[in-house]
Amino acid sequence: MSLSLTFHGAAGCVTGFCALLQTDHGRFLIDCGLFQGPKTLKALNHGDFPFEARDIDGVFLTHAHIDHSGLLPKLVRAGYRGPIHATRPTRDLCAVMLEDSAGIQEGDVAHLNRRNERRGLPRVEPIYSSADVEPTLRLFETVKFNEEIEIVPGITARYWPAGHLLGAASVELVIEDDGVPVRLLFSGDLGSGHQPFLPAPDGPAGVDHLVMESTYGDRERVDLDLSGRRAALAGELRQAKAAGGPLLMPTFAVGRAQELIMDLLAVMEAEPELAGDVYLDSPLAIEATDVFLQRGWNIDASENPYQVLRHAPRLHYLRRYQESDRLDRLRDWHVILAGSGMCDAGRIRKHLKRLLWRRETTLLITGFQPRAPSGGC
Ligand SMILES: [Zn+2]
Repeated sequence: MSLSLTFHGAAGCVTGFCALLQTDHGRFLIDCGLFQGPKTLKALNHGDFPFEARDIDGVFLTHAHIDHSGLLPKLVRAGYRGPIHATRPTRDLCAVMLEDSAGIQEGDVAHLNRRNERRGLPRVEPIYSSADVEPTLRLFETVKFNEEIEIVPGITARYWPAGHLLGAASVELVIEDDGVPVRLLFSGDLGSGHQPFLPAPDGPAGVDHLVMESTYGDRERVDLDLSGRRAALAGELRQAKAAGGPLLMPTFAVGRAQELIMDLLAVMEAEPELAGDVYLDSPLAIEATDVFLQRGWNIDASENPYQVLRHAPRLHYLRRYQESDRLDRLRDWHVILAGSGMCDAGRIRKHLKRLLWRRETTLLITGFQPRAPSGGC
């Protein structure tokens, strides 16, 4: 048996997914994600890969979230020149997200270097920079859902909808191993099946090995459909408005932000007394919204449900930092969505600082939050 699979991330933690698949027909990565969260985890992004980037023959990318795609520019910087197989929306979202991630890497290092200079310590290099993003994007080869493609002789791939994010896929690989086909499925991140704007998760029967994400595997989740979810949100809005407002929502920029805004607009339309201005204070989320407007077409319904995000009178996109600062003058009922979703960076920190002490503020957490820094991966 020459087939082997090694996990180089998201094992014992929930970020940095990267699996190395070694076969008779070549070496492949499934995702190449950035570690996020406490410093002990982020430290894993530095240093060399535990494999030779030049020796990798292909990358299968499940979806654009940075904990699955965020080290691709580092891989290219280390010499990788093979294809990155992904769906078209995943490719377009990566164009936005990897550029943003490169900016964060460069900013972090500039900050560190200023400190190092004062202390007489050597300069450090960013994990990667925006110069590494364009060469990475050129390596993308887009694939369609449900189409079997031959990657190399002896390996075929098929992308199945994962229902997690626009373009998100589970990847099925069939690999000839000593003349015997071995069927593997990498789930990627999976949706609940209740996301109305995405296809339900789907996959093949009869796989030999299933590698499945299990971020929420240890907890019972309330199984809400769209109307249930919006009813729950309406309840939160009523309470927040009764408290005097504003409502502050830390938001993951890609996927979660767009869905939440659609929910907010729908709730406000159904209950006009809850209507108020909604501010999306995240340049990354705004750029990602453009991709949703372009690529969010639901093939079955021949419509793009995200179109409501284009011209909603109460929805305000705040790109510039000064626009964000002006929110401080608002005293009436309004909703602010800002990143990062885990409150560890971005404009949300500024809003938390200026609003949390006020009795009339409501903070609504709608996404995964890490534990306080403790152990690592
Ligand atoms: Zn994800």
